Amino acid sequence: MESNLKVVRVPITTPTLYPNTESNSYLIGNDKECILIDAGYDQTETKVLLEQAITKHNLAIPKKIILTHGHQDHAPGVKQLTHWSPTVYCHEKERNMIKEAVYPFTQIVPVKDNEAFIIFDTKIFVLHTPGHTKGHLSVYIPSKKVLISGDNIVSEGTTWIGPPDGDMHDYLETLKKLNQLDIERIGPGHGDWVTAPYEKIQFVRKRRIDRENQIINLLKTNNNLSSEEITQLIYQDTIHPSVFGVANRTMEAHLLKLIQDGKVSKQGDRYSIS
Ligand SMILES: [Zn+2]
Repeated sequence: MESNLKVVRVPITTPTLYPNTESNSYLIGNDKECILIDAGYDQTETKVLLEQAITKHNLAIPKKIILTHGHQDHAPGVKQLTHWSPTVYCHEKERNMIKEAVYPFTQIVPVKDNEAFIIFDTKIFVLHTPGHTKGHLSVYIPSKKVLISGDNIVSEGTTWIGPPDGDMHDYLETLKKLNQLDIERIGPGHGDWVTAPYEKIQFVRKRRIDRENQIINLLKTNNNLSSEEITQLIYQDTIHPSVFGVANRTMEAHLLKLIQDGKVSKQGDRYSIS
């Protein structure tokens, strides 16, 4: 069925990771009913920008907020929106992180993979898409061929995957799952709409596989390295110093997966080829 619902991206300035300076929230609905996906950072600007967008696009005040995950640039903004009397929805595996992020707000309901929400006359689905975090959700709007991807897909480059919440094995499985959806656009957690969704998913997947091969090749010639040394040797000077920490956590996510795959072994904090 054709849907007349609007899907509005609302970028909100947040103190998030370089090179992103904004997190996206999304409003899906019309003047009768509306849902908010992600609530941004806990600051007054969050409420101001969302309410401006609601007025501008003639949307109803959202009574439901779906949180893709519990990170500080996506969840705690709920605290600015409690006068809407909303209910927050998240995946069971994300619930504790979200409870903490939105405290003292407590109206939180867990949802399951593939659970449907009806907004006015349109069905949308929440998908459990672990990778960036364990209980990460995406929102799929089939009638619009739109995927709201949270932080599993970001507009510029690739997302970071940091253990223990981030899991590289889950992430690659999630990319496979997203690749099977019928979509024309991805609304990412950060940055502009992605209008070539399959190219983007392939790009991200290839980047992760290339990185794995790079690690294996490096360890073949330099055994017994720490994750920091591996990060340093692989990235050289190509990354902004402020993101060395997250690059290193993503490296650790790769190393964990390679250990699970039996390709790499770990002694103390040193990695070698198996
Ligand atoms: Zn995040």
